[in-house]
Amino acid sequence: MSETMEFKAELKQLLHLITHSLYSDREIFLRELISNASDAINKAKFDSLEKDHLLQNDKDWRITIRVDKDLNTLTVTDNGVGMNQEEVIQNLGTIAHSGTKAFLERSKEAMASNRPDLIGQFGVGFYSSFMVADKVTVITRQIGLNESDAISWTSDGQGSYSLEKTTRSRRGTDVILHLKEDARENFLEPYTIQNLVRKFSDFLENPVFLENQVTEKEETKWESKQINSSKAIWLRSKSEVSTEEYNEFYKQVGSDFEPPAKVIHYSGEGIAEFKVLLFIPRQQPYDFEFYNPKFGPKLYVQRVLIQDNCTDLLPPYLRFVKGVVDCPDLPLNVSREILQDNVTIQKIKKDITKEVLKSLKDLKSSEPEVYQKFFQALGQVLKEGLRIDFEHKEKIMDLMLFESLLGEADKPTDFADYVAKMSLEQKDIFHLGAENRQVALASPVLEAFRKHSINVLFFTDPVDQFILPYMNEYKGRKLVGADQGAIPGLESVAKEDEDSFADLLGKWKDWVPEVGNARLSTRLEQSPACLVSEDGQSSAHMERLLKRMGRSEGMPATVRTIELNPKHPFVKAMNTLYKTDPNSPKLIDSANVLTDLATIGEGGRIENPLSLVQRVVTMMEAGLKS
Ligand code: ADP
Repeated sequence: MSETMEFKAELKQLLHLITHSLYSDREIFLRELISNASDAINKAKFDSLEKDHLLQNDKDWRITIRVDKDLNTLTVTDNGVGMNQEEVIQNLGTIAHSGTKAFLERSKEAMASNRPDLIGQFGVGFYSSFMVADKVTVITRQIGLNESDAISWTSDGQGSYSLEKTTRSRRGTDVILHLKEDARENFLEPYTIQNLVRKFSDFLENPVFLENQVTEKEETKWESKQINSSKAIWLRSKSEVSTEEYNEFYKQVGSDFEPPAKVIHYSGEGIAEFKVLLFIPRQQPYDFEFYNPKFGPKLYVQRVLIQDNCTDLLPPYLRFVKGVVDCPDLPLNVSREILQDNVTIQKIKKDITKEVLKSLKDLKSSEPEVYQKFFQALGQVLKEGLRIDFEHKEKIMDLMLFESLLGEADKPTDFADYVAKMSLEQKDIFHLGAENRQVALASPVLEAFRKHSINVLFFTDPVDQFILPYMNEYKGRKLVGADQGAIPGLESVAKEDEDSFADLLGKWKDWVPEVGNARLSTRLEQSPACLVSEDGQSSAHMERLLKRMGRSEGMPATVRTIELNPKHPFVKAMNTLYKTDPNSPKLIDSANVLTDLATIGEGGRIENPLSLVQRVVTMMEAGLKS
């Protein structure tokens, strides 16, 4: 008896898109089906590690593609785990796969921006069958179930599907595509199928067979032959793998439609023998979730996939790295718990961490533009390493890029370059936290740095503020905030200025109680005043960040120091007025206005804008009258 069920709304939307959009890449359906078949076989291999009887001696692992020109069908068959009824409903009736969800989002964007060609870049798994078929039937029997417990699922991709009990003599799944008229010429042609399999799935460790009819001496018979080399790409030597093959493989393990920025392929030796094939992405892959705890390469043991994401093989700050690690020396029945403490795994992790950092360094020097894009997209993740991986602290610092005061926009520098260009007198590395380059450049605290051509690194990534405590020095050079403490190496304040302004400075705290200290500045050239933090206090930028993140509650505001520019006419005039009329109300107004302006000048928010307005109006009025 057959039962008809509706697709979930989201899936209907997806199917509509698939059948009605222009696809330049219809052929990807084959890659998706073969990849599902191969996953199913890998799962069966894994399940049978402990329960060999489940296989009932059917260990002839294979994926078969059968093209039938009489019936106009293309069938992909596997002897993998298969599905029971519940799984069929769950897996084929809803969007279970996160990549498919991402596809839906992206395709909406692509349609909105009139770029339907973008859609073709994404794999949509099983549903991509409906690009070439107007009816799809899936016949599947789950591992461990009986011949009569098989399920048949059929749909035209329009909105519903039907389910029926059926029989299947072996474990596994057939996906039968009734090809649309315009797809028949291409996808019933053995030669085309062979080429596509070479292109997409040559590296699959499971063999793919092609079955087609051949006519010889007026006799028609079925012919079957293997069409992939079935040598896992990571087991081959580097010289045997073409860039195209790497790219194609990366697309599949990396959920990324761009080619990788860097391929890391080597054999490790020592405590264990292992093969590594890892990829560094160019950008953030579309399904990259920043805090996804499921990261890490696929782990194979004796060519059996043991774990899809082996988190024990990479530190979390390298979670953008995708690929495969194959270690034949591990026991096949390793469990998650055992993996964590396994010496071999720890050794491999150490080894590949080193290799990934080295590859990033190579990429940075050999392809700076590619690296810059990578760093913009994923540098935030990399920087987390400073908090957890002390052993590689300097290597990670060497991978960081910053905009800077003396550098051009979008031409970032790094610590090594900064130090190399320092003058002999300069001892420390200066930095300034700011929302972006523009805000940093406008800061009055940089005036003297600019005049003396002393470079300042701009820490414009919010993460920079949180990793600052882990970056107190680089190769023996201290990191010093350009807006913190007294700056060594800049001109000192003239003795006569110190004496002349001492009383005015002493009075400042009475006039502006929120300021902790007032002194003359060595930082300022054009501006009359700026605010700085004392050594060890958090910077204004950090405070603003915490406030914006809602994490400042209960934290006492840092009491800032105001620095005055003794060469500025306004500051000079204040000093003169103080000497002749120390009680003039103009002094209180001026001190408060100057402090507020310094706050605004550094991109901060003043507590009481109304009071500033009133004071400025009073001062302007007095100015107009005089
Ligand atoms: P994905 O494979 O990316 O998860 P699909 O839409 O292609 O997404 O497939 C959905 C699910 O259906 C798979 O995750 C798998 O559980 C199941 N499935 C698909 N094809 C097969 C198959 N040949 N054998 C067993 N299960 C399958």
